[in-house]
Amino acid sequence: MAERAGTVRDKLISLIFPNRCYICDTILRHPAAICENCKPKLIDYSKISGAVCDICGLKLQNCNCRPGRLYEKAVFPLLYEDEVRRSLQKFKFRRRLDKTVPFGEAMFNALVCRDVLSETDLLTFIPMSAKAKRNRGYNQAEELCKELQKRTSLPMLPLLTRYGKTGTQHDVTNYLLRTGNVLGTYEPAEEFLPQIEGKRILLVDDILTTGATLNEAAKTLLIFGADRVYVAAAAAVPRKKRVKGRG
Ligand SMILES: [Zn+2]
Ligand SMILES: [Zn+2]
Repeated sequence: MAERAGTVRDKLISLIFPNRCYICDTILRHPAAICENCKPKLIDYSKISGAVCDICGLKLQNCNCRPGRLYEKAVFPLLYEDEVRRSLQKFKFRRRLDKTVPFGEAMFNALVCRDVLSETDLLTFIPMSAKAKRNRGYNQAEELCKELQKRTSLPMLPLLTRYGKTGTQHDVTNYLLRTGNVLGTYEPAEEFLPQIEGKRILLVDDILTTGATLNEAAKTLLIFGADRVYVAAAAAVPRKKRVKGRG
């Protein structure tokens, strides 16, 4: 009887909150996270062969990495285009936090496939300013990082803060400025400085656009003694395809 009541309740819940594909938001009749149309959008790194980029793992003709990257590898399960772009915008700007779990799972699978987790000691994420986080109510990079933390059981710490946004100049920042080092947008959270030293750190963001943000944050971690930095995002902006007839 209890079981039947449960079934009725499940049916009601599925009528009110139908199961949707996390990429295109199409209603699915079965309890899957992704529809058949969107499945091929997930990058299958195990099937990429031939000359690949060491950093992003894509074929060289599809690689969008800029020169001067300070991170070892960039891992992302999807390309930031079409439905993926719309889905991530809903996740980021329209409080669609239901997308955290499936995007996190896709990132985890890509990280396993590219063999990054076995070389990672610590997880961290790109911070938002306190004001921006208050306005939005959450930091989407932090939410994805939490999801990876659950799946990997690796420690997760908020290692970075946005430079100068706290209104106070940290001693570490003053020291760097005096010694002529130039920090970019980020500085380390002073209480976690000892945790950075010698660590292999996976830095999480939602979208890898040009890689400049992740590079700035990686630079800060390396200046403060990180052994190496890997980066992960839910999606990366693809290399622009040449439009036929325009050279
Ligand atoms: Zn779909
Ligand atoms: Zn690349």
